[in-house]
Amino acid sequence: MVEVRGVHKSFGTLEVLRGVDLSVPAGSVTVILGPSGSGKSTLLRSINHLEKLDRGVVSIDGELIGYRRVGDRLHELREREVLRQRTRIGYVFQNFNLFPHLTVLENITEAPISALGRPKAQARESALELLARVGLADKAQAYPRQLSGGQQQRVAIARALALEPKVLLFDEPTSALDPELVGEVLEVIKGLAGSGTTMIVVTHEIGFAREVADTVVFMDGGVVVEQGSAAQVLDAPQHARTRAFLAKVL
Ligand code: ATP
Ligand code: MG
Repeated sequence: MVEVRGVHKSFGTLEVLRGVDLSVPAGSVTVILGPSGSGKSTLLRSINHLEKLDRGVVSIDGELIGYRRVGDRLHELREREVLRQRTRIGYVFQNFNLFPHLTVLENITEAPISALGRPKAQARESALELLARVGLADKAQAYPRQLSGGQQQRVAIARALALEPKVLLFDEPTSALDPELVGEVLEVIKGLAGSGTTMIVVTHEIGFAREVADTVVFMDGGVVVEQGSAAQVLDAPQHARTRAFLAKVL
C-alpha cells in the first residue's frame, strides 16, 4: 500500500505539488493523467524520494520513505538508507535508461547482485525467467543498442521487476516509442496488472487506463482534481478541468 499525504513541493517560487493525497492499495493499478507541467513526474519522484518534500509524507507498507520520525519531527534518512528503500520501488522511465555497455542479462542482474547480494547464478536464473515473461528470452546476450525502443523498454521493466519491488512507478513508459511499438509495452504492463503488482502509471494512453486502471487520477496545477474508477473519471468527469483535458486527449 502506497500512501501519499499532504505532499507539497516547490522549486524556488514555483509551487509544483500543492497538497497531494493518494492511496494505492496493494496489488492495484493507479493511472495518473494530467496536462504537461501539472506535477505528475514530480509526484513519482517524490514517492521514491528523488525529491525532498517541503511538507507531507509518503509511506509504503507503513514505512516512511526518505524520513524517520523523531518525536513530532521528521529527519531525512541517510543516503544509504534511502538507496535501500529505493531498491524496493521500481521506476521505469520514458527513455529506458539501460546501461549501454552491459548486455540485457547484465542490465537485469546488476542490481540484484550488487544491491541485494544475490548469488550470480540465482540472479541469472531469475533474469532469464523475467526476460521470458516480457517476451525477450532470445535477447539475453544482446546490447541495448541492438534492440528496438519497445524491446529496450521491456528490458527496463524486467530490470525493475528483478528487485521484487513493492510498487512499480511508470513515468510515460510509451511516450518515447514509435506508435507501432507502444502496444507491445502496454501488453507487458497489462500482464503485470493481472499478476497483482502494485503500480502507478503516468500515461496519456486513455485506452490503457480504461482497460487496466483500478483508479484513475486526474492532476492539474499540483493537486489531485478528481479520482475514481475509469468509468467515473473518463466517462462521467465531475470537474470542468477534467472535461477540458479529456476533450483534448480523447
Ligand atoms: P509532463 O507531462 O510534461 O511530463 P509533468 O506533469 O510530469 O509534465 P513535472 O515534470 O512534474 O510535470 O513538472 C512540474 C513543473 O515543475 C514544471 O513547471 C517544471 O518545469 C517544474 N520542475 C520540475 N522539476 C524541476 C526542477 N528540478 N527544478 C525546477 N523546476 C522543476
Ligand atoms: Mg512528466
